Amino acid sequence: MPKPGELTFVAPRGAKPPRHLADLSPAERKEAVAELGEQPFRAKQLSNHYFGRMSNDPASWTDIPAVSREKLTGSLLPELMSVVRHVSCDDDATRKTLWKLFDGTLVESVLMRYPDRVTMCISSQAGCGMNCPFCATGQAGLTRNLSTAEIVEQIAAGMRALKSGEIPGGEARLSNVVFMGMGEPLANYNRVLSAIRRLTDPAPDGFGLSQRGITVSTVGLVPAMHRFADEGLSCRLALSLHAPDDELRDELVPVNTRWKVAEVLDAAWNYAEKSGRRISIEYALIKDINDQAWRADLLGRLIKNRRVHVNLIPLNPTPGSKWTASRPEDEREFVRRLQSHGVPTTVRDTRGQEIDGACGQLAAAG
Ligand code: SAH
Repeated sequence: MPKPGELTFVAPRGAKPPRHLADLSPAERKEAVAELGEQPFRAKQLSNHYFGRMSNDPASWTDIPAVSREKLTGSLLPELMSVVRHVSCDDDATRKTLWKLFDGTLVESVLMRYPDRVTMCISSQAGCGMNCPFCATGQAGLTRNLSTAEIVEQIAAGMRALKSGEIPGGEARLSNVVFMGMGEPLANYNRVLSAIRRLTDPAPDGFGLSQRGITVSTVGLVPAMHRFADEGLSCRLALSLHAPDDELRDELVPVNTRWKVAEVLDAAWNYAEKSGRRISIEYALIKDINDQAWRADLLGRLIKNRRVHVNLIPLNPTPGSKWTASRPEDEREFVRRLQSHGVPTTVRDTRGQEIDGACGQLAAAG
């Protein structure tokens, strides 16, 4: 905490996050290094430490002479974010981190450790402009897009914590990344795409994670979904549908007034075809709002015989929300009806609920 009268640095509104190695493609890294008057091969050395060894301690990068190292790290490895706090639950298998960015903006990420995998849920924007009424992030509106490196650093920090054994359960590797934290990833398209490259390019260009382990979740920005399909990736696409009919979806996912259910599903099938991956349909079950048996049947008819999987999420009520999760018997009936149409359906576990770290709860209250 600053003492009274002490000056703290406040970035001017609209200032850009400082440039970081993780913002740059391998070719751009070489150029940046050369611009600093250093040998281009130093770019590979930096990548090797940051991506290959997951090290963020330049003092240990002794294959680079101290003078060069200082110049390079000073210019390409600024500290982008600091931990405000970690909060854990589920016997420490779930950990939410609140981050403060260079301009004081707050964002959250969540790390979830399961017996067979580790998943990180990360933010792509500070806040969100999509305004879905049941989502905590949506209530506050959009503050700004995150830079590529601000997205990548959330994951890098998680990977380092897993590698160092800081997360209970022994050393582990990150297997899955879901863009289901704060923000609409396809509304920050270029930076999210570069972040995916940094995560999945083979080491030392990137972290070498599998594209198949990465899920991008969208409200259904149709042109961006088509563009994403043309990238040639094998990431998973999750579509936040939440209602099978336009009347209700217009209310629950306001961007539906622009791109309707039929159009958004077509864009999803196009992605499935081009990527070879099943679409994941996200559907938050809200008591007496979207959980009626007839809506399950309508959804079943719309998506049966497609490359699809439905993920039902019991609504996590946000503070002051008039809505709540469905009754258990209505949830069961919803699952049964979808399955009777042959649609693979699961109910999402609600990890992190007690620490406001579950779906739609990320709100980054300081
Ligand atoms: N903007 C993207 C990704 C962020 S939200 C999207 O909307 O897909 C990730 C998922 O959590 C989305 O399916 C979202 O609709 C859902 N979600 C949001 N608030 C929720 C809540 N209160 N309870 C359950 N799921 C919620």
